[in-house]
Amino acid sequence: MIVVMRPGATPEQVGEVRQRIEAEGLEAFVSAGEERTVIGVVGTELDRVAHLGTMDGVERVLRVTNPYKLASVEHHPERTRVRVGDVEIGLGGGEVVVMAGPCSVESEDQLKSTARLVNREGARVLRGGAFKPRTSPYTFQGLGLPALELLAEAREETGMPVISEVTDPGQVELFDRYVDLLQVGSRNMHNFVLLRAVGQSRKPVLLKRGFGSTIEEWLLAAEYILSSGNPNLILCERGIRTFETATRNTLDLSAVPVLRERTHLPIVVDPSHGTGQRSLVGPMALAAAAVGADGLLIEVHPDPPSAKSDGDQSLSFDEFGELMDELRRLRFVRSHLADQPAIVPSGITDLAELRARIDELDAGIVTLLQERAAAALEVQQLRGDAHGHDVSREHELLERAAAGDGVLTPDEMTMVFGSILRASRSAQRRHAAAARRET
Ligand code: PEP
Ligand code: MN
Repeated sequence: MIVVMRPGATPEQVGEVRQRIEAEGLEAFVSAGEERTVIGVVGTELDRVAHLGTMDGVERVLRVTNPYKLASVEHHPERTRVRVGDVEIGLGGGEVVVMAGPCSVESEDQLKSTARLVNREGARVLRGGAFKPRTSPYTFQGLGLPALELLAEAREETGMPVISEVTDPGQVELFDRYVDLLQVGSRNMHNFVLLRAVGQSRKPVLLKRGFGSTIEEWLLAAEYILSSGNPNLILCERGIRTFETATRNTLDLSAVPVLRERTHLPIVVDPSHGTGQRSLVGPMALAAAAVGADGLLIEVHPDPPSAKSDGDQSLSFDEFGELMDELRRLRFVRSHLADQPAIVPSGITDLAELRARIDELDAGIVTLLQERAAAALEVQQLRGDAHGHDVSREHELLERAAAGDGVLTPDEMTMVFGSILRASRSAQRRHAAAARRET
C-alpha cells in the first residue's frame, strides 16, 4: 500500500500517518520527494490501515497489486539517483556511467595499470573481483583481502570509487571498509541472508539479475535489500540462460525499458557476462546505452588471453578506448531519455503579459541575429577570402550551442543554431559575389 501525501503536507502530518501505521504493527517507509512525500506501507494485514485516506495531509491511498512495493514506481514516482563516492548513477539520459576493470584482481600491476587506463578513457567507477564465485572449485577463486587492499590503493591513486562482489553475509563489514559499491552477483540473487545483510550496509548495492530469474523475482530480491533499510540500490542486467549456445548468456536488453516502467531504481547493463565474447561487448554496450541504461559494467584486462578469469570476454585497453569513443558519439541518441529540466519560472502569471514578454524576446533575437551576421561579414572581409567560414569552427560553435542547459534538447539547439550558421554563410556568399562584380 502506498500513501501519497498532499504537496504541502507538513512534517507533523507525515509523522502522524507514520505513527498510525506503526501502531497497527505495520512498517512505514517514508520517501520525501521534491514535490511530495510518499509512504510505503508493508505488512500482511494492510486492512488495518484502510482508513489512512481520511487523515490530514493525505491525498490518496493506493493499493499496489505488484508483489514488490518499495521498488515500484508507485512508491517513488521520481527516479532514484544513487551516489557512489562522488559519482551519481540514475540521471536517466546523457552520460552513461561506465564501471570498468578486471574480472578478478590478479596483481598490483594488473589492477593499477587497468585502473589508470580506464580512468583516462572516461570510466567513472573501477571494478575488480576479490572473492570470486566460480562455477568450478578448481578455478581461480580470487586473491581475497589483498585484492580489496589493492582496490582501495587504486581508488586513492585515481580518485575512482570501487565496486567488488561480496559473496558471504559475514563479509559485509569488511566490504563496507574497503569498497564504495557492494556487488551481489548473479549466483547470489536468491541468497536472502546475503540480501538482508547488504540491506543493512551503509554502502550502496548493485544487485545483478539471477541468470535463471524473471524480472519480477529480481525486483522481489531488490525488495529484500530495500526493506532491510538500504535505499541505495542499483539493478544490473547481466544476461539470462536460454536455449541459445552462441553466446554465454542471452543479454535481455528489453529488461531495461521494462524496468523503467516498473521501478525507480537505476539500471546498469553488463555486456561482458551478458555475451561472454569480446567482439560482442561493444555492440551490446552501445545497444544498452541506446535503450536507456544508466550505466555499464565492463571487464577490461591488460592482456586478455592471460587473464585468470573471463579472458574471452575482457576488452584490451585499445578495445575499451574505442568503445568509450563510440559511447560519446551516442550522446544525442540518449538525450530524449534525460529528465526534462525544470522550467525556471518567469514570474509572470498573466497570459497577455507572457505573450508581450515573448514579443520582446523575439525582437531581441532578431536584432542579435542581424548583428551576428554583420560580424560574420566583417570576419570575411578581415580574412580577405571569399567564404569566410571555417567548417571546424562551425562545428565547435554548434557543439557549444548544443551543450547549453535549458528546455531545448541538444538536437533542437543544433537544428536552430545550424540554420543561423547557414543563413550567415549565405549572406557571406552574396556579399562576396557583389564585391566581385564591383571589381
Ligand atoms: C562478476 O561481475 O564478476 C560476476 C561474477 O558476474 P555475474 O555475477 O554476473 O556472473
Ligand atoms: Mn567475470
